[in-house]
Amino acid sequence: MADPVRVAIAGAAGRMGKMLIETVGEEPGARLTGALERPGFSAVGADAGELAGVGSLGVELNDDVKNVLGAADVLIDFTIADATERNIEACRLAGTRMVIGTTGLSPEQDEKLRAAAAEIAIVKAHNFSVGVNVTFKLLEVAAGIFGDGVDIEITEAHHRHKVDAPSGTAVGMGAAIATALGRDLAEVAVYGREGHTGARDGATIGFHSVRAGDIVGEHTAMFAGPGERVQISHVAHSRSNFAQGAVRAALWVMEQASGLHDMRDVLGLK
Ligand code: NAD
Repeated sequence: MADPVRVAIAGAAGRMGKMLIETVGEEPGARLTGALERPGFSAVGADAGELAGVGSLGVELNDDVKNVLGAADVLIDFTIADATERNIEACRLAGTRMVIGTTGLSPEQDEKLRAAAAEIAIVKAHNFSVGVNVTFKLLEVAAGIFGDGVDIEITEAHHRHKVDAPSGTAVGMGAAIATALGRDLAEVAVYGREGHTGARDGATIGFHSVRAGDIVGEHTAMFAGPGERVQISHVAHSRSNFAQGAVRAALWVMEQASGLHDMRDVLGLK
């Protein structure tokens, strides 16, 4: 059997970082060899496994990316944009592959990412959930088959602390459907309804948001036609789905020599 892929995690003490430490530990094809946090972080030197609550792993939390890359085949980065920018440069120089989950990179940082991907293989995705990516593919297929003959409504539900609506995933679902139907989402999106709305315009895509309790995240796209409807749903039970997808991407990226890839490449959905 091939040696396990040596994985380092940036943002190791964060919500995703801890989940990634646990997920790498459960993956026989991978082994944690490095854990990185921001310079001066209080727990630097502590055992990364203890930090994540999975018991000692013999991997110390480090605060200098150069110290961890020598023993890593791939760096999984879920941090903040400025940290990711520095890690991209360090990985480019070291020839280390990357899996990047950090959101909010600026256009300039995206440009540096693309330049680095000419030399090293990188997977970057807004959403590493395997289920969400499969859902997007199913929506494209359904929209392509139904065409303009159905009414499309997207509902999503999240916990009471979420401050924006509709969710980015709901908008992404609407965009995937609109693209498949040759519509411009900005022109056809309708956000909620109230009062005397008139009859439904068949070209529109409706969005509806529920905020309640501790719901992790639920999304449903409804394709409703005469006499029947199809509903395609994704339900997240925890954030571990992102970690599972990122670790899967880390194993996949080892087969790539260079280039910028996303989760649809990893899952063969293109
Ligand atoms: P978090 O705040 O809990 O964790 C981020 C961690 O990065 C913190 O522990 C912080 O100390 C650390 N960090 C900051 N600077 C660093 C540096 N220079 N070097 C190393 N570590 C550093 O946040 P989170 O919820 O874990 O999310 C992290 C990022 O991942 C965010 O950008 C979030 O939007 C994104 N995210 C993406 C997906 C996806 O599927 N793509 C899923 C969840 C979260």
